[in-house]
Amino acid sequence: MLLKAEKIRKEFDNTSVLKDISLEVNEGEVVAIIGPSGSGKSTLLRCLTQLEKVDSGRIEVCDNVMVDTYSGFGYADNKTLHKIILEVGLVFQNFNLFPHYSVLRNIVDAQVKVLGIDKNTAKEKALSLLEKMNLRDRANAYPCELSGGQQQRIAIARALALNPRILFFDEPTSALDPELTGEILKVIRSLAEEHMTMVIVTHEMAFARDVADRVIFMDEGVIVEQGTPDEVFGNT
Ligand code: ADP
Ligand code: ADP
Repeated sequence: MLLKAEKIRKEFDNTSVLKDISLEVNEGEVVAIIGPSGSGKSTLLRCLTQLEKVDSGRIEVCDNVMVDTYSGFGYADNKTLHKIILEVGLVFQNFNLFPHYSVLRNIVDAQVKVLGIDKNTAKEKALSLLEKMNLRDRANAYPCELSGGQQQRIAIARALALNPRILFFDEPTSALDPELTGEILKVIRSLAEEHMTMVIVTHEMAFARDVADRVIFMDEGVIVEQGTPDEVFGNT
């Protein structure tokens, strides 16, 4: 198991946004988290990836305890939290590329800074990932010269360059029109075929149905249903 979360609670301004959320993600599994706007999907993802602190709960990522408020352990020390960050890749809705860096530099710098590997090795890896994303010919372009779908594929390449064991997506297609959404779906499907472990927050039901092994349906801070896409959506 790569991710195990138990009874996560989170409040904002005395309003419960996550109410005892528990979930598990196995190695190689693709889990989609769906639900209406405001149901707590983003907050859950942010809590699982250290972008937000839980009020209570236990979260274990790749055999490291990130937080356990129930045993009195609290949050792990910075060294462990950093180790966990290295296991985790993140892809956001708005791509989050550095606008003043070329595509290639966006992917190379991440590796040099985060993994501390040398520039040439990083460049080789970046180029092979660009090849895989079908964007080898855009290596010297700047993000603003690319379509949203291309920028998102660069963001995915950058995340993959850091060799994560688990990849989180927060609404990866919501800034894209339907055609470009299809492009990203294709990339995610090919990652799934390579058994990449992924957790994907999305409001796109068809996308979730298409790509996920398991779908978690959230509403008002609770998991109301989870199962295979057929179980959750019906098999019609
Ligand atoms: P979803 O991703 O399902 O749309 P969110 O997790 O973004 O839901 O939001 C769940 C609820 O928590 C919403 O009511 C939202 O306004 C609130 N919320 C999220 N982040 C914050 C924050 N930083 N401060 C206060 N309220 C927040
Ligand atoms: P998403 O649903 O994708 O998180 P939002 O527009 O709801 O998009 O939220 C964007 C950012 O604003 C998030 O970081 C979220 O935590 C924060 N946020 C959302 N609602 C509130 C709120 N009521 N007060 C403060 N911050 C909020």
